[in-house]
Amino acid sequence: MLRLPSFTYLQPKSLSEALRMKSDAGPDSMFVAGGTDLYPNMKRRHQEPKTVISLMGIPELRRLDGWTVGTCVTLTSLSNLPTFQHSAIATAARLVSTPLLRNMGTLGGNLCLDTRCNYYNQSYEWRKSIDFCMKKDGHICWVAPSSPRCWAVSSSDVAPVMVALGAEYRLVGPQGERVVPAGRFYNNDGINYLTKQPDEILVDVRLPRPNGWDAVYHKLRRRGSFDFPVLGVAAWVQWGGKNVADAHIVLGGVASYPQEIPDAGAALNGSPLTDESIAAAAEAAYRPSKPMDNTDFDLSWRKQMTRVYVTRALTELRKRHVG
Ligand SMILES: Cc1cc2nc3c(=O)[nH]c(=O)nc-3n(C[C@H](O)[C@H](O)[C@H](O)COP(=O)(O)OP(=O)(O)OC[C@H]3O[C@@H](n4cnc5c(N)ncnc54)[C@H](O)[C@@H]3O)c2cc1C
Ligand code: SF4
Repeated sequence: MLRLPSFTYLQPKSLSEALRMKSDAGPDSMFVAGGTDLYPNMKRRHQEPKTVISLMGIPELRRLDGWTVGTCVTLTSLSNLPTFQHSAIATAARLVSTPLLRNMGTLGGNLCLDTRCNYYNQSYEWRKSIDFCMKKDGHICWVAPSSPRCWAVSSSDVAPVMVALGAEYRLVGPQGERVVPAGRFYNNDGINYLTKQPDEILVDVRLPRPNGWDAVYHKLRRRGSFDFPVLGVAAWVQWGGKNVADAHIVLGGVASYPQEIPDAGAALNGSPLTDESIAAAAEAAYRPSKPMDNTDFDLSWRKQMTRVYVTRALTELRKRHVG
């Protein structure tokens, strides 16, 4: 059985107290929310904080007022978001792991989820047997040995939806507060996958108001019951009557960040969603989708699936619009 290392556990009651505790504890400390990612990672010695600061007792982070969602809202609560406009978020949250984990896991933890790779998501002993890898304790990338960077994949289900919607994230840190578009919160780097500083807290997510847009999320995974995405497709469309006025297609599980494919969105603009425009968008998404050999399934098959899943997502959007 894998055991947690010993650590100090702190429970602040306010944002300012959490920031003070983080500053006092220094770089050997981390924030935790539901712990469904951090604690398994600590058991495998991926992350080794000496102090863990829980965010769950901070009322501001548990707010859910419709268009502003606190980051300690659980995935179960997100799954039950009521409005039609929230349905892509609710779908993505509902597709994360299992009911038990969704009762514990939070929006913030999902949006800050560590990147994943077959050579990394292993026990300490397994990783030691291959002399580790660049992401933790080693020097080489086993997926691309001559590469200077890590290619571990973004495996969050909710993050691609937030990027597609153009949601905004509010962060609070020792330097004050800032608001960043979801798309600028992520880096295409398996190690430095967030632009967030370690001492910043992701406080809440501001969702766009309903304004003639719609969005859906489709997920490919091995086991239908529960599994990380090996491909996620978030599709957002701004309708202008029967025509698409603007569109965003964002892929999860194929790069170290939720990858927007601007050409796929552009292929849809200015016309209704027809079989032809959907096929053009699916083709545009297929080309730059470059899954690496670091997660489940054959990578060329996963690439092929990009076409299929983009087509399915856009077909669903069309059906919802025309009824
Ligand atoms: C068996 C299993 C299956 C899973 N399947 C999926 C899946 O299919 N899809 C998926 O997306 N995820 C999956 N997960 C991962 C995880 O359960 C979810 O992503 C969950 O939402 C993480 O939330 P959490 O609150 O538990 O995060 P935590 O473990 O508490 O935190 C994760 C990371 O985020 C940081 N963090 C959390 N909240 C904040 C905040 N407010 N501000 C700053 N930093 C913060 C923590 O420091 C940590 O680095 C799975 C996990 C397991 C164990
Ligand atoms: S992509 Fe390479 S460096 Fe990154 S976790 Fe996998 S093997 Fe390690």
